[in-house]
Amino acid sequence: MTDAGMGRTADARQARLLKRYWAAAGSSALVLLLMFVLYWEGHLPGYGFAVTAGGMLFWMLFFYVLFRTRLNLKAGDPSLTFAQVLSAIFMLTVAMYYATSGARPVILPIVLMAFVFGIFRLTLQRLICMALIAIAGYALMIALVHQLRPQELMLRLEILRLLVFSFVLLWFAIVGGYISRLRKTLSDSKAAIEELATRDPLTGAYNRRHLSGALLQEKLRSDRSGEPFCIAILDLDLFKKINDTYGHQAGDEVLKACAQCGKQAIRPIDCFGRYGGEEFEVLLTQTDLQGAGIVAERMRISISNLRFPEISETLRVTVSIGLAQYRPKEDIRDTEKRADDALYQAKAGGRDRIEIETNNA
Ligand code: GH3
Ligand code: MG
Ligand code: MG
Repeated sequence: MTDAGMGRTADARQARLLKRYWAAAGSSALVLLLMFVLYWEGHLPGYGFAVTAGGMLFWMLFFYVLFRTRLNLKAGDPSLTFAQVLSAIFMLTVAMYYATSGARPVILPIVLMAFVFGIFRLTLQRLICMALIAIAGYALMIALVHQLRPQELMLRLEILRLLVFSFVLLWFAIVGGYISRLRKTLSDSKAAIEELATRDPLTGAYNRRHLSGALLQEKLRSDRSGEPFCIAILDLDLFKKINDTYGHQAGDEVLKACAQCGKQAIRPIDCFGRYGGEEFEVLLTQTDLQGAGIVAERMRISISNLRFPEISETLRVTVSIGLAQYRPKEDIRDTEKRADDALYQAKAGGRDRIEIETNNA
């Protein structure tokens, strides 16, 4: 992918992360509203509400600044999920500390809600780690209330609640870890399917469909920027004879090796595809016929230098190449036709050579 392409992908990812941030911030705003209701109903004292609300707003702003300044990209996980969920659990634990004993169990399910955010991003280990921190925080909070306002607490009931909370949270972590593994398998499979859909299975070169897309994109880019690009069509010489002499399987091995050579000779932003049979088409971006000629010569030489000791010591392969440069606004098929005509000239001229399109206006 080009640098500009990678920049676009990174921007799209950052935009997705920011969208997820807004989802978390929206949920936090709703939780803030619930806290206000608790305060209004007399289950959360005024200073308790002030501390909780202040803390929540601080964390919302803190993460917003991190995403806006792109500092999040420096973190191992740029979505900052672990830190965001942990800050939410921390603020909810603070709220539970201030809340009346009657209201504390009302806040507890909200902790699970925050935890669920983590399920979509975190691994099993991180989820268990987060559950353990939440449980420890809850236990510490209960211990503090017991120490400072013992008359409020039914200790045995609170311990029972802690046990149930621990059990539920760990269960969530384990199920969440399973879901997160499933998501990973799914995204790996998607990448594998995409790979299969764009590649030729025998040679690993791009298939025609992908090549057509790349050519069209390059045409649009060239029409806008005026930058030249070229098409090379390669056809292995007297390949039928190789098949006839050494068998189809040996022919396949030769094809694979030639494709490998071709791919190695080009730049990563170029595109090497199988046109069909023993023919390949190469998109040479941001180059004119002079530059394309150099690349084509590199491919021709490296293919002619291939040796196949496991098939035959004397087996040699050569390739003929036709080159054409795209002319602004023309149909890409016209460029291909000129490259094909040049290839025909190369064959007629004795093979193992490169011909450049004639009538190059
Ligand atoms: P020329 O120099 O004129 O190109 O001669 P050629 O023998 O290469 O010409 P032609 O296009 O007539 O023959 C191409 C041969 O390539 C025919 C077919 O047997 C072989 N071929 C096409 N696809 C495959 C493939 O996937 N595997 C193998 N082993 N051979 C293939
Ligand atoms: Mg052919
Ligand atoms: Mg051929």
